[in-house]
Amino acid sequence: MPETYDVIIVGGGNAALCAALAARETGASVLVIEAAPEAERGGNSRFTAGAMRVAYRGVEDLARLMPDLTEEDKANTDFGAYPEDQFYDDLCRVTQYHANPKLAETLVSRSFDTMLWMRSRGVRFAPIYGRQAFKVEGRFKFWGGLTVEAWGGGPGLVDSLYTIAQRAGIEVRYATRALDLIADDDGVRGVTIRCGGRTSVIEARAVVLASGGFEANAEWRTRYLGPGWDLAKVRGTRFNTGDGIRMALDAGAMPYGNWSGCHAVGWDRNAPEFGDLDVGDGFQKHSYPFGIMVNARGRRFVDEGADFRNYTYAKYGRAILEQPGQFAWQVFDHKVAHLLRDEYRIKRVTKVSAQTLVELAGKLEDVDPKGFLTEVGAYNAAVQTGVAFNPNIKDSRGTRGLALEKSNWANTLDTPPFEAYAVTCGITFTFGGLRIDDDGEVINTDGLPIRGLYAAGELVGGLFYFNYPGGTGLMSGSVFGRIAGSSAGRSAKSF
Ligand SMILES: Cc1cc2nc3c(=O)[nH]c(=O)nc-3n(C[C@H](O)[C@H](O)[C@H](O)COP(=O)(O)OP(=O)(O)OC[C@H]3O[C@@H](n4cnc5c(N)ncnc54)[C@H](O)[C@@H]3O)c2cc1C
Repeated sequence: MPETYDVIIVGGGNAALCAALAARETGASVLVIEAAPEAERGGNSRFTAGAMRVAYRGVEDLARLMPDLTEEDKANTDFGAYPEDQFYDDLCRVTQYHANPKLAETLVSRSFDTMLWMRSRGVRFAPIYGRQAFKVEGRFKFWGGLTVEAWGGGPGLVDSLYTIAQRAGIEVRYATRALDLIADDDGVRGVTIRCGGRTSVIEARAVVLASGGFEANAEWRTRYLGPGWDLAKVRGTRFNTGDGIRMALDAGAMPYGNWSGCHAVGWDRNAPEFGDLDVGDGFQKHSYPFGIMVNARGRRFVDEGADFRNYTYAKYGRAILEQPGQFAWQVFDHKVAHLLRDEYRIKRVTKVSAQTLVELAGKLEDVDPKGFLTEVGAYNAAVQTGVAFNPNIKDSRGTRGLALEKSNWANTLDTPPFEAYAVTCGITFTFGGLRIDDDGEVINTDGLPIRGLYAAGELVGGLFYFNYPGGTGLMSGSVFGRIAGSSAGRSAKSF
């Protein structure tokens, strides 16, 4: 006889564990199936810095999420506010108004409440001082709508969710890959799994798919994102190969969202094929707004200062992939070296430095030195040095007269030592996936729910198109994971 659970959760990242906890709260028996072995558990969620975009009205709201916030923190920091309508506007703006309004509204309006729930379950949070606030005149100021991270980053978040799940009596099976859904005209009744080379069936009254996108599948990347995407490096887990999406489509689910789109960033040119848990997100290079990026011809190819990096980094990976040889160099001078994020100081970094621009030009591997020097000359001459530089605001200190302007944070490159970092395209996750309703239930191609099938996290389509506001992936996994888990639990109990 096959084993039976009320709810099976496919996946072992943040969305899956939030779904598991919410399902368990309904009294359901819950099994989590994680394709990765225990040592690699946690999906992309574990590779993150744990940054979570949440709507809040001011520091008092934040103090509810972070009771450890001291009076000194409050006095020395301008936390500002991130009202729901601003979160909503940011999401709609960066997705060029394609984000499904209902999904966007749910994400935004449930963000604070969901983080409070996580906190009540034992997940701890902290302010992101290191990355999202610069100290100006003795005071930190947060910018870009991103203020809170999980304690201990992604690894801390995943560890605490597994600990809480274990305490709640949720069973987890590692190194167990879901292969197919058991489904008939009445809906989904279980999952076929493979563990230790053996295939078997586990029955369930409801199944939640939270097994990520297809970013780690080179063939699907090329098929859906387009030529060249097979060459991208994968920033996170090697286990997100689109299984959950395929299984749902086979069961009649409607494909939804931006199937040709993905989140992709500048990532060390010599990083390994998949993410390395010892390095986490350290291969990313996100301080480009304070320098310039050049391609093999030595030419700039994006407005590095178009917006806060939270609103440009997720689309600039694609811009790098489209350059000759799929690489770029980020170039900085000494004036901004202190603003570079920690990831620029890790051991495994592809970096050159030089005392002059001519020397630097000779060190930029695969770059035309003449083209580079001409580009820097034109750029330096175009910087509006009369406008004050301020990294905490969009300072409008741009260039004037270039074919491709830099809009903010433009500084002349003139103060040695000069530093340059080689990057390529690192894919984070894919945007296309499944369509869900208000309960997190998966919708079929006739527009009707597939009974007993729920979805959350990266594989939900319809939220992100072209671009993405930093910190929204985890928040989406938590909000929709909680919704899917509690709906699945309730439906299983009402069987
Ligand atoms: C380097 C990096 C940094 C990031 N930084 C941030 C950040 O700071 N803030 C933020 O919000 N987002 C960040 N993201 C994005 C974020 O990781 C994702 O949006 C989010 O973690 C997705 O959660 P998820 O639970 O849907 O997927 P995942 O966490 O990827 O979990 C998917 C799970 O499914 C499992 N799985 C896959 N196939 C199967 C199968 N067939 N059977 C069983 N299990 C399966 C995988 O092993 C994995 O455990 C980052 C991503 C990366 C890679």
